[in-house]
Amino acid sequence: MTIKHILVIGAGQMGAGIAQVALSSGHRVTLVDVSADSLAKGKAGIEKGLSRLVEKGKLDAAAKAAALGRLSTASSVLDVKDVDVGIEAVTENEELKKKLFRELDQVVRPGGVLASNTSSIPITRLGAVTKRPEAVIGMHFMNPVPVMALVEIIRGAATSDETYAQTKALAEHLGKTTVVSKDFPGFIVNRILIPMLNEACFALGEGLATAEDIDTAMKLGTNVPMGPLTLADFIGLDTVLSIAEVLHKGLGDDKYRPSPLLRQYVEAGWLGRKSGRGFYKY
Ligand code: NAD
Repeated sequence: MTIKHILVIGAGQMGAGIAQVALSSGHRVTLVDVSADSLAKGKAGIEKGLSRLVEKGKLDAAAKAAALGRLSTASSVLDVKDVDVGIEAVTENEELKKKLFRELDQVVRPGGVLASNTSSIPITRLGAVTKRPEAVIGMHFMNPVPVMALVEIIRGAATSDETYAQTKALAEHLGKTTVVSKDFPGFIVNRILIPMLNEACFALGEGLATAEDIDTAMKLGTNVPMGPLTLADFIGLDTVLSIAEVLHKGLGDDKYRPSPLLRQYVEAGWLGRKSGRGFYKY
């Protein structure tokens, strides 16, 4: 299949980023959001992102104009036609995503792909609400999408080899490296990352060391760009807690239980960078 037209649902942080990389890789993109404000912000973000590539000499001005010329917007999935691939990147809510997958089923052409960028909702369940679960797959981009090299591809119980092959080829065409995961909580990255961040919260809560020393130890001792508490603040402590809860509930093992300190910080409204306070003050 030649993938020409990509429908991206959700013009937030992730959707706008996915739309930007698809546009700069030569695709036609329709960005759908129920919020006119999100669509306007998403479009402005895409323009800014493409301008940054021009400044860095990675894209010329004509290519930027052509990319923006390939972008359309809409307020409903059902208004969009001739879709080769749909990528859903709306708010992490299962009922909402199921509704949009039923709609995607109506607008993606036969032989096309229905993908979700979900971080925690089983792809198998999203596939089950469509008439073609074999065409449903997870395409988990990392944030910020234009910068991060990885896409985790998640195969649901019914995902076909053909859908997987098309999705992998698309992600590579967007300049990403792919890995493939089965459809279990956290996939690969969050399954391993979140317990590490959670363990840093336990260590801090037990008074093992200061936040600064925990971060310095992990940064210099394991050669990562930032320590776990700094990274947790960056991701958002509410997001870290919610993924920890998904792992705990979905895998049913107490080793994944969220740290009481993490829970308490979220209850206090200390969500990290975005709220001005988390393990550090901003
Ligand atoms: P966001 O809040 O920035 O954007 C979500 C967008 O969805 C909003 O613009 C909202 O208006 C829109 N939306 C809500 N209901 C809609 C509907 N019915 N139709 C169309 N649009 C609708 O969220 P985000 O951070 O971009 O996350 C989106 C998805 O990506 C989630 O599933 C999340 O789990 C996943 N994800 C997020 C990250 C991250 O770091 N933020 C990383 C990987 C995956």
